[in-house]
Amino acid sequence: MDQFIVKTHSRFEMIDITGEARSILKKSGVRDGACYIFVPHTTAAVTINENADPDVPKDILMEMDKIVPLYGDYRHTEGNSAAHIKASLFGSSEVVLVEDGNLILGTWQSIFFCEFDGPRTRKVMIRLIPGVV
Ligand code: ZN
Repeated sequence: MDQFIVKTHSRFEMIDITGEARSILKKSGVRDGACYIFVPHTTAAVTINENADPDVPKDILMEMDKIVPLYGDYRHTEGNSAAHIKASLFGSSEVVLVEDGNLILGTWQSIFFCEFDGPRTRKVMIRLIPGVV
């Protein structure tokens, strides 16, 4: 299992971590299989979406803030319920297939670390599963 640190700089942020995943894959020597990406946090998540237009992640974060407002009639006393809810909506893991030593992603797809309660120092874990899956 590999892991790396992501330092976030604002309360809400989507950070492209495709490059980190690719370099871990290259280092592993795995040619075919699957790449599991796991975020061990309750107020952060991982998702796959477009990075060609930087406005896409901005729009996602803006609209998520409307769906799950920062302030509301929440019971959780830590004051970050919106971040917990967003983390569950997005999910803490993704799986990307690996073929010929490459991550199989669509032309416009990138893997994003999603910060919902930053800025913080976060961790991303990656496990490569060799073989035909
Ligand atoms: Zn909390």
